[in-house]
Amino acid sequence: MASTSTTETEEPTEEPTEHESALQTARRQLQHAADHLDIDPNIVERLKHPKSVHEVTVPIERDDGSVDVFTGYRAQHDSVRGPHKGGLRYHPEVTRDECVGLGMWMTWKCAVMDLPFGGAKGGISVNPKELSDREKEQLTRRFTEELRDVIGPTIDIPAPDMGTDPQTMAWLMDAYSMQEGETIPGVVTGKPPVIGGSKGRDSAPGRSVAIIAREAIDYYEKDIQETSVAIQGYGSVGANAARLLDEWGANVVALSDVNGGIYDTNGLDTHSIPTHHEEPEAVMTHEAPETVSNEELLELDVDVLIPAAIGNVLTADNADAVDADIIVEGANGPTTTAASEMFAERDIPVIPDILANAGGVTVSYFEWLQDINRRAWSLERVNDELETEMLAAWTDVREEFESRDVTWRDAAYIVALSRVAEAHDARGLWP
Ligand code: NAD
Repeated sequence: MASTSTTETEEPTEEPTEHESALQTARRQLQHAADHLDIDPNIVERLKHPKSVHEVTVPIERDDGSVDVFTGYRAQHDSVRGPHKGGLRYHPEVTRDECVGLGMWMTWKCAVMDLPFGGAKGGISVNPKELSDREKEQLTRRFTEELRDVIGPTIDIPAPDMGTDPQTMAWLMDAYSMQEGETIPGVVTGKPPVIGGSKGRDSAPGRSVAIIAREAIDYYEKDIQETSVAIQGYGSVGANAARLLDEWGANVVALSDVNGGIYDTNGLDTHSIPTHHEEPEAVMTHEAPETVSNEELLELDVDVLIPAAIGNVLTADNADAVDADIIVEGANGPTTTAASEMFAERDIPVIPDILANAGGVTVSYFEWLQDINRRAWSLERVNDELETEMLAAWTDVREEFESRDVTWRDAAYIVALSRVAEAHDARGLWP
């Protein structure tokens, strides 16, 4: 049975450092947005804390017959606008505080998209590469059982994250459904389509990054046909964004994976370069006039830079050397707080992750709707509705950006926090 606690966690330091925890950054960004708004400070204080954090022990029998015990978490931040929503990650560095901070980000991401969800994040502190498939399945089924009372289609809906995938979600759905006595696909999203997953879910975060980049290009009065783009990371987010922007006429001049990057000022043929999922880490095998390191890629003279690999790659150390006109965050948290401030001083717009890569959670919402209605949507419908949702969110954020003269990140947080705070205000404090 899950234990519940809301114990105090670390506060942000006065000045942003390059090594803030996810929770410190999330609280700093919340306070920053609140400073622009006339919100009841009691609501802001509530939002600095998770609604609940569940810490569970997950024992499994290893293939050699021994038993290992792992610790799992589910941090549920806020549910004023609907059930909690957020990923489950299997990674050795998963901690309680990381789940709280990332759960808070999910609240803002859902709210900026105006989805009827609140934020959550969870995971198990484990290295999934050291587990066999059977062990991973055991771990997932036992974790699901430990969380069974606190998840569900109207309570909290997990999704894949680092170290988990559609198969993990299928095991979770099966374990939950077996105990409930009926098939309940809406308990998780990111499932294989054959058991209620949505078409277009895999490509959705990259698609939303491309849509938002296209809108930003237009907003800054550039012609997409004459726009050069550099993208770090060629996986689910980076490759889907690259191929769409390429199809829409942009000149994708640089791409990279963990091994380094390729650069061609005449533009790369993105469709002939295998993505991380088609052939892992194969970007460098593609012939190109020049190769660049991942560090050099971030400093190329391009119109649009899309960091789409990992977090904290744009820092105080390289922010002054970045030569892009617009940055669109494909990865989660690629820009440190200090670097964000340097970009603001240099008037380089940074379109934030909570807007740009929110296509993933948006199509998760579509998946949940399809599961509840037992009616699958066509890929065309998914992509059309995603386009509509992304344009609506872009317009909401752009209006705040223009009227308040703030950064794009602040504008997105202002949109999100206004919605969450208004909902708290309307519902009041119980009892
Ligand atoms: P992925 O595993 O599909 O691909 C990651 C890519 O980044 C690969 O090409 C890999 O080689 C490259 N990479 C890994 N380490 C690198 C490094 N140190 N330097 C340069 N490149 C490196 O991952 P993804 O799903 O595309 O996720 C990328 C980012 O986007 C992550 O920050 C993730 O949290 C975020 N994100 C993903 C989703 C999603 O649903 N896939 C949704 C929102 C945000």
